[in-house]
Amino acid sequence: MSTQKGKIGVTTENIFPVIKKFLYSDHEIFLRELVSNAIDATNKLKTLSSFGEFKGELGDMNVKVTVDKEAGTLTVSDHGIGMTADDIEKYINQIAFSGAEEFLAKYKDKAENIIGHFGLGFYSAFMVAKKVEIRTLSYKEGAEAVSWVCDGSPEYSMEPIEKKERGTDIVLYIDDENKEFLEQSRIDTLLKKYCRFLPVPVISGKEQEWKDGKYVDTDRDKVINNTEPAWTKKPADLTDDDYRNFYRELYPGQDDPLFWIHLNVDYPFTLTGILYFPKIKNNIDISRNRIQLYCNQVFVTDSVEGVVPEFMMLMQGVIDSPDIPLNVSRSYLQSDTAVKKISSYITKKVAQRLEEIFKNNREEYESKWDDIKVFIEYGMLTDEKFRDAAMKFVLVKDTDDKYYTLDEYKTLIEANQTDKEGNIIYLYATDKTAQYNYITAATDKGYDVLLMDGQLDSHFIGLLEQKLEKSHFVRVDSDVIDNLIRKEDKKADDLTAAQRNILTNVFRSQIPAVDKAEFLVSFESLSADAAPLVITQNEYMRRMKDMAAMQ
Ligand code: ADP
Ligand code: MG
Repeated sequence: MSTQKGKIGVTTENIFPVIKKFLYSDHEIFLRELVSNAIDATNKLKTLSSFGEFKGELGDMNVKVTVDKEAGTLTVSDHGIGMTADDIEKYINQIAFSGAEEFLAKYKDKAENIIGHFGLGFYSAFMVAKKVEIRTLSYKEGAEAVSWVCDGSPEYSMEPIEKKERGTDIVLYIDDENKEFLEQSRIDTLLKKYCRFLPVPVISGKEQEWKDGKYVDTDRDKVINNTEPAWTKKPADLTDDDYRNFYRELYPGQDDPLFWIHLNVDYPFTLTGILYFPKIKNNIDISRNRIQLYCNQVFVTDSVEGVVPEFMMLMQGVIDSPDIPLNVSRSYLQSDTAVKKISSYITKKVAQRLEEIFKNNREEYESKWDDIKVFIEYGMLTDEKFRDAAMKFVLVKDTDDKYYTLDEYKTLIEANQTDKEGNIIYLYATDKTAQYNYITAATDKGYDVLLMDGQLDSHFIGLLEQKLEKSHFVRVDSDVIDNLIRKEDKKADDLTAAQRNILTNVFRSQIPAVDKAEFLVSFESLSADAAPLVITQNEYMRRMKDMAAMQ
């Protein structure tokens, strides 16, 4: 057989069922798609008007979502550019031809905030509707209104209709399995989820008021969105209260956030957003109050694993980027190169902002340290880039509640707390109350003791030992404290060796444990009312091993 070339035939008969079933895993997405088309149509006309290509009155530009339970229809209406019969032929009858992309290519920088992308969104209507009708009148002069009707088979019909108002109504005849979308409350919930921050007012249902013991509809239209969310504004135009209020709008009922970061970048990708450091201590439900991802103010998802670095899962707020693909699955998101760049950009920004607050307002930074500590330690343990940046502004706290950077702390103790090999010894307590005697003994001798009682501190100590040269972290209740070498001579001991021996034996005889040989008396810490017993470093290591083995 000779070589044969040809074209694979894709027919709408084959494609339609696939779209219906697999285009989106979530049927509810259709509403997001139709409303974003309506917003696009509105913004396109605004764009054309802005440079005189459309000279008429813009008038009311709201988008409206109407439920008609009796008729079994859900209608999305706009007063945007509308379509001529030719437009429908081009944009609707050709599946996967995106009018949004075409518009963007034609008007480039003039056209902002166009959401559409793939030319598939419209057909998601068939996931919930047995029949879809488009009724539309184009903005073009002398345009004739048309209706396009399709029942989900590849045949459609088109005819001229009477329609006075410019714009488009998309009428969905909801099928029997999807009756839920004829409930106003269900539609409200969906609009709140996906359309809460869209740039054009979206109206659905009526405002309610409390009358005679129940809520009743008024005749005022209900606008469901905030068209100018804080992240779309310039940081210079926002006060601290604006940021806090926006946080409350996103996460009602939460404590005020500690800090925030306003993200704003144009190159090499476009991204805006506001990230908040929440007060984690107060039992915040992180699984339900997560960072939300938007694309041109359309909600995409709050499953941001892979988009933001893992440690930022503790943060909250909004990220908006047209470069984050709207219509794709999460596994695709995670491997997307734009998304990877976004993730490392955010890391850099968060580190910069923390450093800035630390430098400009150390007092405030220290006052919030106990709350952000877990976040920063987690970041340092899981993200190398963040760790390198954070070495400058991570703080340690000592048992006197004083805060130090790592450099400051090193300067504080390096002359005073070294061992024979010249390592700097960082003494730390894990429990201020239980180890009170040991702490006092150490501080009486002029040593400083860190308080390492956080959830992540044991891991964090491991990290610091790796990163800080010639440094050892030693528990304040181990015997190392007796072997520390101070610059200035130690004051002469009051007890002779023989006296020490006797005392040691007396104390040891009081210990019931079998391994009493592993206990020493800390003569350095001896005082009138306490004789601290310490376990030797050997014994301490042995116990740690046992514990590790048990786990
Ligand atoms: P996309 O939005 O990705 O371009 P869609 O399948 O959602 O793809 O829509 C296809 C095209 O149909 C749009 O690009 C637009 O040209 C046209 N269209 C859809 N809805 C409307 C509308 N409400 N008003 C005007 N044109 C619309
Ligand atoms: Mg679309």
